[in-house]
Amino acid sequence: MEPDVWLLLTEIMLRMSNGVPRIRIEFGTGETFLHFEPAMRFLDHVRTLAAAKGIEVEALIVTNGTVCTADQLRTCLQKKISLCFSIDGPAAEHDFFRKFPDGGSSHGVTLKNWRRYREMVAGARDGTRCTVTSVVAGCARLMDVARFWREQGVERFRVAPVEPSRHLGSLASRASDVWRAQYLTDLETLAFAEAKRLRGSDPEREFRGPLDILDAWRQLNAPSSYRPCNAGHSTIAAGADGILYPCQGFVGFPELGIGDVSSGVRRDKIEAFRLERMRLGRACNGCWARFLCGGGCSAGDPKSGMVLDKPGGCEFSRAHAEIAIGSFQCWRDGAVPGGGAGK
Ligand code: SF4
Repeated sequence: MEPDVWLLLTEIMLRMSNGVPRIRIEFGTGETFLHFEPAMRFLDHVRTLAAAKGIEVEALIVTNGTVCTADQLRTCLQKKISLCFSIDGPAAEHDFFRKFPDGGSSHGVTLKNWRRYREMVAGARDGTRCTVTSVVAGCARLMDVARFWREQGVERFRVAPVEPSRHLGSLASRASDVWRAQYLTDLETLAFAEAKRLRGSDPEREFRGPLDILDAWRQLNAPSSYRPCNAGHSTIAAGADGILYPCQGFVGFPELGIGDVSSGVRRDKIEAFRLERMRLGRACNGCWARFLCGGGCSAGDPKSGMVLDKPGGCEFSRAHAEIAIGSFQCWRDGAVPGGGAGK
């Protein structure tokens, strides 16, 4: 993103953040460490102007961890930037998607940089974090990924099965059905094992495993559990070309943009997006999973416009919700519903 774009973007962000104590910037959709200096200039600029308005700016970079240098990592620590490394478990699984262009493994270098930053933030008391997220695909099993993170001393990790529309193309979509089924079997095993281990303990302090399960337990434990998607409300995404989107899922599809950094968010576009989102959401009326699913993601397949159910998405969400509810009840009451792995 060029300075003429991010200067305007800063103005829009601060105008839209009037009265809030804190905003969060997430650098993603591309490798930020390839454009590190300009990204830092942008962040410094936003923070300086935000501080004058009493707004704190949290920052997160999602990275594949292959190109960051030790100096850049030290700068991140200094600037209190949290990093989330995309590492898909053991080398063979990770390299399924993440080989270097010459075919070489990227696992070693990614792991080295993740460890380096993990050590750096270990003593930080200011909330700077070093986290991981994994995609499960190909020959990988969620159990292998979970074991890998346990061996690395990581208690909690984000994880998801690979999405056919984003990474695989139509050729592999049949295989992805099998991967999803395997993923859910493993998720069930992990969730129930954790529910049993934690009976009588506080998951907030002691949970180990996929964060999506802990998030679902939190929602089930909350007085009001419905939390719809934030796209186009508290979330706005900006492409490097200055086009604004309701969320990062639409970046790169200008026809789904809601404005640009020169003219700001267009009221007609954002209202049209929210209306369309509401219209799509009517399909969720009567669905028992809606309080956990949050009404699905409308950016699952942006090539097709706004769609609620990417191929098989609702089936997956309902199966996920079933595992979350069953394992939550198992943790809370010791209830063990019939059938299924890991109970
Ligand atoms: S599972 Fe599908 S229908 Fe049910 S709430 Fe989620 S998106 Fe809506």
